[in-house]
Amino acid sequence: MFLPDMRTIYFITMLINLVLATLMLVYWRTQKTYAGFSYMVLSTSLIALTFLLFTIRGRIPDYISILGANLMVGLAMLFRLEGFRRFVGVEQFQYGDLIPVAIMLLTASYFTFVQNSEMIRAIILSVVVIYFIIKMLYTLLTSTNQAEKPLISVIVVIHTIYVLVMSGRALAWLFIGPEMHLFAPTTSNVGFFIYSLMNNVALTIVYIMMNGQRLTNHLTVAQQALELLATKDSLTDLYNHRTLRELGQSELLRSRRMNHELALLMFDIDRFKHVNDTYGHAAGDKVLNLLGNQALRTCRSMDIVARMGGDEFVMLLPETSAENAVIVAGRLQRIVAQEACEWDGQQIKITLSIGLTALTPDDREFESLLRRADDALYEAKRTGRDRLIVL
Ligand code: GH3
Ligand code: MG
Repeated sequence: MFLPDMRTIYFITMLINLVLATLMLVYWRTQKTYAGFSYMVLSTSLIALTFLLFTIRGRIPDYISILGANLMVGLAMLFRLEGFRRFVGVEQFQYGDLIPVAIMLLTASYFTFVQNSEMIRAIILSVVVIYFIIKMLYTLLTSTNQAEKPLISVIVVIHTIYVLVMSGRALAWLFIGPEMHLFAPTTSNVGFFIYSLMNNVALTIVYIMMNGQRLTNHLTVAQQALELLATKDSLTDLYNHRTLRELGQSELLRSRRMNHELALLMFDIDRFKHVNDTYGHAAGDKVLNLLGNQALRTCRSMDIVARMGGDEFVMLLPETSAENAVIVAGRLQRIVAQEACEWDGQQIKITLSIGLTALTPDDREFESLLRRADDALYEAKRTGRDRLIVL
């Protein structure tokens, strides 16, 4: 069977890792990335460098190629661990992780200069790589990031298989012996390095996907917050006038189609400026908030309550005749009279002027209902306030 020599495999691996590192670097500089991404760029670059050292082995002094490659692999794994740690929110660098790298360098020096054994060096390297992968798996499995869980599971599976393969390979070295050295173009060596390369490519893709997944989640949350801001009034948490107009128009069309009744109440606090002037703006806010709450308690869940702005509110009552809406308005006035707003040990009493109208066959636009209710409200103000006018 034809097998490429190991130098070719290392060269190709170096090139592919270089491409991966470059792509990640470009992604990092041009896209929104989260904590840890730079460490992954660094890690992939160091792996490319390791395979460069493997490729030119024998053409440069051994201490550079052997010790350099050991150091690069150790640091690459350390940075990969750090990349995942930071991504899941662990910010603190653990200096203890430098110890395995240092031990590996010392033992690799010993087994290069004192007693030359490529097999023992390869086993020590495998142990250090496995150590970092297990720490990485631990970090991922104990992270509470729910949204990225599926992709984290993919990484866990990929790496668990990798750890098993690496352990098997290290054990095989122990039993079969040094003829399996790294530069022998055996089926197992070629297979292992191609597999490692695929593993690295998969890891890079999944890591970028995880970053994208987090971005998508953040955008979804931001979009929901914006939607809430756009549909609700922030002070009272009632619908705002824009939403009322949208909901009102569809409610009007539905009522017309089904031949159902529809009533609308528009109410405004009497002399609210006086409340602000006497008790302060914060007290005024509390009054508005309480009124919104009282309005909600006055009506059914199918009714729509909105703050139009300032001290003006609207209640849209589906399936409700003008007569029944008068009852609702009376109920609201009673609640408002009974439950005054408490402020600084004082009670802020308010009254409401209310304009009421109901759907007629001529109403084709929600706007005409609003206009009529507004006219009724104006009339209530003009004729002395604290009253209900039906138009
Ligand atoms: P009227 O009986 O004619 O309604 O008199 P009014 O004093 O209530 O006058 P109007 O309804 O025209 O003014 C509403 C006042 O509500 C004006 C403004 O100072 C105050 N206001 C508007 N928005 C807010 C708010 O969010 N918080 C507070 N505290 N006051 C507000
Ligand atoms: Mg007012």
